[in-house]
Amino acid sequence: MRFDITQVLDAIERHLTTEAALAQAVVDLGQVAWFDALDGGRSVNLLRTGLLVDALSRHLGEDAIMIYPVAGRELLTDADLTSKERMVLGRWAGDGLIEVVATVGDRVPEVAELTGLPVVTRDGYPGLEGRYPWLRGQPDRVLRLIPGDGGARLVGGSPGPAQPGGPGAVLLGRVWRCQRRDCPTFGERRGSTQAVPRMRAGVPVCPRHDEPLINAGPKPPAVTMALIVDGTVRERFVVRAGRPVTVGRSPDDPDGLMIGSHLSGEAAQMISRNHARLDLRDEILLVNDVSTNGTVIRSRKGPFSAADEVHLGGGPPYPLKPWDTVELYDGVVLARADRSLTRSAGGPGSVMGDAPTIAMRPPPKG
Ligand SMILES: [Zn+2]
Repeated sequence: MRFDITQVLDAIERHLTTEAALAQAVVDLGQVAWFDALDGGRSVNLLRTGLLVDALSRHLGEDAIMIYPVAGRELLTDADLTSKERMVLGRWAGDGLIEVVATVGDRVPEVAELTGLPVVTRDGYPGLEGRYPWLRGQPDRVLRLIPGDGGARLVGGSPGPAQPGGPGAVLLGRVWRCQRRDCPTFGERRGSTQAVPRMRAGVPVCPRHDEPLINAGPKPPAVTMALIVDGTVRERFVVRAGRPVTVGRSPDDPDGLMIGSHLSGEAAQMISRNHARLDLRDEILLVNDVSTNGTVIRSRKGPFSAADEVHLGGGPPYPLKPWDTVELYDGVVLARADRSLTRSAGGPGSVMGDAPTIAMRPPPKG
């Protein structure tokens, strides 16, 4: 049986982000990569991240899950990593897909505290409940990773959308920059995406370089959206003020959301290359129909209220209310990711693809 490690690592990579607005859980990558009881294999294995991605997908009932991975330097320098794993980890670190820190310590609960996200953990961070009382009091924010289901399984409550409050909301309402301009975590390449500062005695510092961050002004408003196809969340994306996002089969704008690979049959024919443009202005999300066949808004006052249909065929932009959804074609829907309408109806797929857990084990001796 053959499986392509590169393909599996690429599939895992699509679920990694250090953007606070996109992440759904925070995890210490080392705790996962060193968890040899998951598959009984090598002491360290980066493919175990795929078992975690699959477990979180099943736990949340959603395909497009995004994790915020924190990695200590001791993982990046583990002598038992393969050269391919070391190369991939280096690329993830350089591209800012994982956050590299000198010591992990309490960094995972700290990111969770500031963002309101749940943690994925092996031990629940005993000893830190004093500083982070939710570690004991809120089971929906502490997801325990255990072996099971032929790989990994998560035990814990069902976390709702993150609601950052308190100091985290103020901190994440600003743009922060590292003094090192080429920093993958807070450097200039980050554009408008942003990781979570580390707090040292009340001062925001770069988690990678441990130097104070520069306050670069207020952060433009943003809304996190989900693409749902046939009841399953397929993509998450962020619409920022002043940066409209065109959604379609294959948008002309390179920053648009290309959804062609998620479509089949009639949907692939009826959805235009450029179909709808989402534009956040004065904190109102405007939907512009730019398609050939039109867009339907299902307007709801709340999660359980009946929907009114509004057909957009060109015309003026439609101001989307929080519970409204945008239908590009039957079963192809855009919705706010912080609304529970995005909970999946279908079962999620697997990033491990054809890689069975057995393939991670060392070959039998003799
Ligand atoms: Zn830095």
